[in-house]
Amino acid sequence: MTDRTVTIDIRRDLFGANEDAAKINAAEFKKHDIHAFDIMGSVGTGKTLLIESLCERLSARYRILMVAGDLATRIDADRVESHGIDTVQINTGSACHLDARMVRLALKNVDLSKYQVAFIENVGNLICPAGYSLGVDKKIVVLSITEGPYMVRKHPLTIKRADIIVINKIDLADVLDFDVEVLVKDVREVDALLPVYKVSSKTGQGIDDLIRGLGL
Ligand code: MG
Ligand code: ZN
Repeated sequence: MTDRTVTIDIRRDLFGANEDAAKINAAEFKKHDIHAFDIMGSVGTGKTLLIESLCERLSARYRILMVAGDLATRIDADRVESHGIDTVQINTGSACHLDARMVRLALKNVDLSKYQVAFIENVGNLICPAGYSLGVDKKIVVLSITEGPYMVRKHPLTIKRADIIVINKIDLADVLDFDVEVLVKDVREVDALLPVYKVSSKTGQGIDDLIRGLGL
């Protein structure tokens, strides 16, 4: 009988090429002294509002570029641009994550010498974006209490690959009778040392602490 199972080493072919492209991005960011952040999280966790909230506080001190990844539309980029921030939208079509090559292409016509901070909002999805390095300083995973209490336990690999965890929408904790510490405890179980910031992008609670955590 013929071999009916073919195992493809997707890690070596796909991820290897991505790591090479990520190194090029990292070198570009470094050359221009840009602090770059990859912001990941499911649809509706408040990634865009978090970026808006950060930009509001940081735009007086830093020149900021926002790169938005979505399957389609410029909705998120337009929202951030309304605060006077320069943006580039990447429409991935069918790809459910950004990869380093997409970011490289998007930055090709951008004068990076103009910026000191780059926020890259990844496609809304908590699974595969974490597998693709973009060449940033820090990977931020945004959780929110509206997604329920099992997000950390169901995505341990994503949590493991994060540099910073943000728990967003804490202003809703009372209304939803949600114990935020359950999420914190679950994160601690995956990685005891991972920094966790509890914030509300809406009210601004915790945002200044997060900014310090980003080193900005
Ligand atoms: Mg968004
Ligand atoms: Zn994907």
